[in-house]
Amino acid sequence: MNDVVIVGGGPAGSAMGCYLSKAGIQNIIIEKANHPRPHVGESMVTSSTRVFQDLDFLRVMEAEGFVHKYGASWHAPNGSEFAIEFGEFPQEGIDQDYTYHVDRSKLDMLLLKHAESLGSKIYQGVHVNKVLFEDGRAAGVRANIGGQDVDIPARLVVDATGRNTLLGNQLKLKVKDPVFNQYAVHAWFEDVDRGTDARTEDFIHIYFLPVERGWVWQIPITDTITSIGVVADQNVFRDFSKDQEGFFWKHLNTNPDLARAMKPARQINELKAEGDYSYSLSQFVGPGYLCIGDAARFVDPIFSSGVSVALYSAKYASEQAVKAFAANDFSVEMLRPYETRVRGGVSIWYEFIRLYYKLLPLFTHFIQSKTHRLEVLRLLQGEVYDRSQVPVLDAMRAYIEKVEQSDNHLFRDQLTDIPI
Ligand SMILES: Cc1cc2nc3c(=O)[nH]c(=O)nc-3n(C[C@H](O)[C@H](O)[C@H](O)COP(=O)(O)OP(=O)(O)OC[C@H]3O[C@@H](n4cnc5c(N)ncnc54)[C@H](O)[C@@H]3O)c2cc1C
Repeated sequence: MNDVVIVGGGPAGSAMGCYLSKAGIQNIIIEKANHPRPHVGESMVTSSTRVFQDLDFLRVMEAEGFVHKYGASWHAPNGSEFAIEFGEFPQEGIDQDYTYHVDRSKLDMLLLKHAESLGSKIYQGVHVNKVLFEDGRAAGVRANIGGQDVDIPARLVVDATGRNTLLGNQLKLKVKDPVFNQYAVHAWFEDVDRGTDARTEDFIHIYFLPVERGWVWQIPITDTITSIGVVADQNVFRDFSKDQEGFFWKHLNTNPDLARAMKPARQINELKAEGDYSYSLSQFVGPGYLCIGDAARFVDPIFSSGVSVALYSAKYASEQAVKAFAANDFSVEMLRPYETRVRGGVSIWYEFIRLYYKLLPLFTHFIQSKTHRLEVLRLLQGEVYDRSQVPVLDAMRAYIEKVEQSDNHLFRDQLTDIPI
């Protein structure tokens, strides 16, 4: 009998394996792909650095030469730009003022190997068909190995299958987000003009588009390769009769800074699309199982929060698993503190994202304000999992109310119908 079976070898699953092995808990990771495999989600926030440090993985990141990310820059359609630098708000206990942009095929493979080096047993190219239940509690998984169904028993099952949401589908726990229905089309390019300012050329650049919830990411993957992704509400995509190429190229020309950056660019791989990606499971834990990373919840990627949430959910899930093994108790009650903690943290991102889309100039206003800038930076770092520590969200709400109540406020006609 295995102690823990982790399904999925993305950042959440591999980090979970690392933390469990460090705590002396035997675990196996089953991954359906053979790494390296491509994946969207290439820009980190600084909270990820803390987990990489915890896991002694920063030296691997450095040895691989992933691009250092020192900050972020936002470009409005009218040509105005504003930026933040992580160095303005140092992270306690972390000796670097940058995080990373990554080629996910490399990062995910290295993290899985790292889990193996710490003690996880890895099976790649093995698809898990379902989680097995006995007397109402998860008791292992059924995997397909070389065309044969094989049952693998475990005391605890961890679902880290990302947006495939193995348990979410099996137990019908998945609830589509009532507000967000975004669609993204992305590809890699050579020779994007990242500007001549050495300070900002390796930032993530976000370009606002003049369409419903529309924006573009520009993420440096290497010295010469840049990832470009166009995101907008699904309704905007529908207007293009599902023509991905048309949707992608039309929008690149609607922001002047972006049009300039893309002028010399050469596309080097095929466009890929991601849709229907905002949801939450109605529960992240049940008897004998935990869901982590995207397998539990996914929110709009405007602030690059996904990998950080995947890593922190692994950290918090492993801490709860250690308690469960010590008490030999894998009940919902034992596992629930993990869910409460992670839900709290992702809800902070979600609230921030809703306020952002409610009134775009609000974000610009707050980040440029002397009073609120550091608090917004703290939010953008992604280390806060307790809502009471981010009163700036209340200040943003109050500001929106003021705009709503005033007929002649400068921002009044920029309010959207997003419920907050
Ligand atoms: C458009 C878009 C842009 C994004 N941009 C960013 C960004 O800039 N920064 C950021 O941090 N995040 C971003 N994200 C989010 C990021 O991609 C995810 O949050 C992150 O990959 C979650 O990691 P994970 O380990 O939970 O899941 P994944 O990375 O998806 O890993 C899940 C793994 O499980 C495996 N698997 C699935 N089903 C099975 C099965 N049945 N059996 C065995 N294995 C299985 C898969 O092959 C996969 O390797 C973005 C997401 C989208 C959609």
